[in-house]
Amino acid sequence: MSADLFSLKGRTAIVTGANTGLGQGIAIALSQAGASIVAVSRSAPDETVKAVEATGGKIHVVRASLDTLTPIPGIVDEAKRAFGAVDILVNNAGTIRRADALEFSEADWDGVIGVNLKTPFFLAQACAKEMVASKRGGKIINIASMLSFQGGIRVASYTASKSGITGLTKLLANEWAAKGINVNAIAPGYFETNNTDALRKDETRNRDILARIPAGRWGRPDDLGGAAVFLASRAADYVHGTVLAVDGGWLAR
Ligand code: NAP
Repeated sequence: MSADLFSLKGRTAIVTGANTGLGQGIAIALSQAGASIVAVSRSAPDETVKAVEATGGKIHVVRASLDTLTPIPGIVDEAKRAFGAVDILVNNAGTIRRADALEFSEADWDGVIGVNLKTPFFLAQACAKEMVASKRGGKIINIASMLSFQGGIRVASYTASKSGITGLTKLLANEWAAKGINVNAIAPGYFETNNTDALRKDETRNRDILARIPAGRWGRPDDLGGAAVFLASRAADYVHGTVLAVDGGWLAR
């Protein structure tokens, strides 16, 4: 099998939430595989830019808050202006709010569903229009969660959003596979990022989570890179609508 199967040379990848955590790990991995990166970021992604440029990669930054759909046309236009095309989209940016279901507020519901489900759908739609118009096809990767499979606790809107994103992944795969667009998802297990700070600081939760991970450790952002490169590459041309767990074995337990 040729290593070229996994090469992303000449491809442009939009990665949302590329400044930190999993998005940063994915952006760096896609860049190392040869892709030019459009880093969509609410905060300045200085660290990511440095890491990509240090290995000779190309990166263009688009600063945007994804609470609304307003920035979407600009993101696609900037990608085309910077690198000429949109070949890969990684819908990674996401947020979480914790409260008992009995007390859960409308603001915490709407805030999470907006960033984790609504914006990813409409950004995928905008990128897919471009992929169809350019006749290049493309790859769309949504970031799901263990809470795409399980219920979780005190995270009602997050669980709804991550269960929703896997359903959406399958729907979009059904509609767009014949157009040369692969839509898949990666479901990370428990990773060391800002998103899981509260869990790792809670001694009991930290111990319980670790005890259930067959690999015996939390994931690190660079553990996700290989899966992202695979799903973004020619190697995944016949992979549609799948949810690839990268979880240290959590779901097998
Ligand atoms: P993180 O370090 O908190 O990163 C979240 C990213 O999303 C940041 O870049 C953040 O930007 C961005 N973001 C949040 N709200 C935004 C908004 N309104 N507009 C624009 N950007 C926004 O957490 P992470 O773990 O890397 O999370 C990345 C993805 O992985 C999320 O979809 C998360 O649900 C998913 N995930 C994580 C884990 C885990 O164990 N860590 C497990 C399963 C799934 P700022 O830095 O500016 O806030």
